[in-house]
Amino acid sequence: MDLPVDEWKSYILQKWSLLPTAVQLTIATAETLSDVFLLSSSLLQPEDEMFLKSLSRGYFVGKDPAAPLFYREEGNKKFQEKDYTGAAVLYSKGVSHSRPHTEDIALCYANRSAALFHLGQFEACLEDIGRAQLHGYPERLLPKMLLRKAECLVALGRPQEASQTITDLESNLTSQASLALSPFQTLQRNLHHLKMKVRDKEAVMETFPAVLANALENMDLREESEQVSSASSSVSLGTDPSKGRCLVATKDVLPGELLVKEDAFVSVLIPGEVPPLPHGLGSRWDTRISNGDLYCHRCLKHTLATVPCDGCSYAKYCSLECLRRAWELYHSAECALGGLLLTLGIFCHVALRLTLVARFQDFGKVIRKLCDEINSRAVCVPESKDPVKTLSNGLGERETSGTAVETPIPGCGVNGKYENNYNAVFNLLPQTENHSPEHKFLCALSVSALCKQLQAAGFQALTAGLKSSKLKAAVAPDLCPDLHVWGVALLRHMLQLQCNAQAITTIQQTGPHVSRLGIAARQQKLKSQYFFNCSCLACQTEAHATAAAPRWEAFCCSSCRALLQGGDVLSCSSGSCTEAVSRDHLAARLRDLQRQTGLARELLRSGELEKAIQQLSGCQRDAESFLWAEHSVLGEIEDDLAQAYAALGDWKKSAAHLQKSLTVVEARHGPSSVEMGHELFKLAQILFNGFEVPEALSTIQKAETVLAVHCGPCSDEIQELQQMKSCLLDLPPVPVGPSA
Ligand SMILES: [Zn+2]
Ligand SMILES: [Zn+2]
Ligand SMILES: [Zn+2]
Ligand SMILES: [Zn+2]
Repeated sequence: MDLPVDEWKSYILQKWSLLPTAVQLTIATAETLSDVFLLSSSLLQPEDEMFLKSLSRGYFVGKDPAAPLFYREEGNKKFQEKDYTGAAVLYSKGVSHSRPHTEDIALCYANRSAALFHLGQFEACLEDIGRAQLHGYPERLLPKMLLRKAECLVALGRPQEASQTITDLESNLTSQASLALSPFQTLQRNLHHLKMKVRDKEAVMETFPAVLANALENMDLREESEQVSSASSSVSLGTDPSKGRCLVATKDVLPGELLVKEDAFVSVLIPGEVPPLPHGLGSRWDTRISNGDLYCHRCLKHTLATVPCDGCSYAKYCSLECLRRAWELYHSAECALGGLLLTLGIFCHVALRLTLVARFQDFGKVIRKLCDEINSRAVCVPESKDPVKTLSNGLGERETSGTAVETPIPGCGVNGKYENNYNAVFNLLPQTENHSPEHKFLCALSVSALCKQLQAAGFQALTAGLKSSKLKAAVAPDLCPDLHVWGVALLRHMLQLQCNAQAITTIQQTGPHVSRLGIAARQQKLKSQYFFNCSCLACQTEAHATAAAPRWEAFCCSSCRALLQGGDVLSCSSGSCTEAVSRDHLAARLRDLQRQTGLARELLRSGELEKAIQQLSGCQRDAESFLWAEHSVLGEIEDDLAQAYAALGDWKKSAAHLQKSLTVVEARHGPSSVEMGHELFKLAQILFNGFEVPEALSTIQKAETVLAVHCGPCSDEIQELQQMKSCLLDLPPVPVGPSA
């Protein structure tokens, strides 16, 4: 997803492996990104480009004139099945393949307005009705749509406009006397029904993503940093030779505390995991739903009522405003490259968009400097100067005096303040020396192929949006050197992104007992993705604790219950006891125990609760005789017992076992971990069901505190906890238990 598709990746790696060693070495030891780019792109052959083009064709992003009818019919099927969301998305696909001002696009918009109406999205429905009319909706079909419009307006509490629409409808009907329709009766019949529906819908209209987004957007930094306008005063800006610009905590940070709140400099919608269809007519029509169909390609807002780019079937937006802004900023250059960008992956796409967006910032100055560097380089072949390096130094210069002013932190302004601009992005470390040579080769060739396509598509498009003709003159004296500059900048960004880009995903709930990455796996990931060795206190402590067998894997002495310690032979840690036992023996006992609990779990699943409890109790006794009290297997047995008793409705026993499981989870994951949050949530439910009012209330409180940090204040779990709380608080003063 981030990197190019596998076929292109392995093609380039194959090409790399066939290069003469001397050439590989030159690329591997090239001092600057400019050299890496020059050397690599000189090796890009026409057949490579042909191969890449054939891959790009797997992603069809053009407009197919036969598609609108197909998608409209598929949408109608979903509509019949009352799957209005599915129908809306399919009509959107139809819209995105239609040319403007055709009957196709008008019909798709009209049908989508009906789906949105059933979803209670009346504003969006009205907009689609307007769009259908704008694109020439056929007169003969108008009455039905006007009726829908009137109903929408009534639902939105706009009676005057509704009656105006009814007047329009009447005059339309008199002109089409053949149609037997009684709009007033239908309207009146629907009115009451409609009002009820509105009341129901209002509660669910603002659904999860929107509510969470609003909650987060309204969250504020407690105190703003003077140095970084978008960060909290709990952090300050620092710099490190190997890590680059970084934030450093200046005081203890609370769980859930907001540290940074900044708009992304640039973003690209991740299309989602939908593999390309094999090339061929017919299979272009894809009824699968992906992220690309559900979110605005500019502002990333969730929407079912998208408006498509006039030039391609891929880019879709929440509004005409987003469409217009996207076209001005970047899509005019990207539109013709859709399939290629999907083939080359998100990093390449983000890199391109970065440079396109930056054209409207200080980029003119940046490009001019890069141009000068490369032009002079081409003439007199100077040695050491990396245009990119010079550029980043150059940005620190004061334009008026021309003398370099020391900027202690790369990418900050002359006053030492960080600002969200291209300079800040440009100065993020590309980690050139840490990326493998073949990875750099892959990125350089991908970028080079992209530049060739940009050139073919008309490089003027890139400079067309620039504000002043002076800038244009500076940017586009002639095409080739400019594309080289562009290529070097793109390569730099592509390499930066691995360490600096953020993927935003929707929150996905995972069940409890999902063990997170251990210290070794975590450090491995940090090293491979971020070239980062963490030596912080927390990591060191955890590494130390794990090295000396963790408590959740520890054994206890069978005679005195103290902790067993040692290597192949474990001995009792209590001074007075001489018990010793081999690790192999304990491991065999543990395996046997896990077999037994597996059997118990099967009983539990098949609903044989009494038998399951009997089996689990045996396992529990056995476990307690040789496992340390915080051993994870013991915790799981307690959790299973709690589940079995809950299924029997024995809330007291269930709660008692869950309490034990809770201590194990706490020992392993910590008191404010998400795992702990899920266990507390379960306990709250059990106590609630058992009318244990004070315990339930205090557990709800704890669970809320922990889960709010991990899942956000609007998650299903938090809402359920709040409902339980208000339900308990509404109980009569003396709680009445179930009649016995
Ligand atoms: Zn938008
Ligand atoms: Zn387009
Ligand atoms: Zn660490
Ligand atoms: Zn002992």
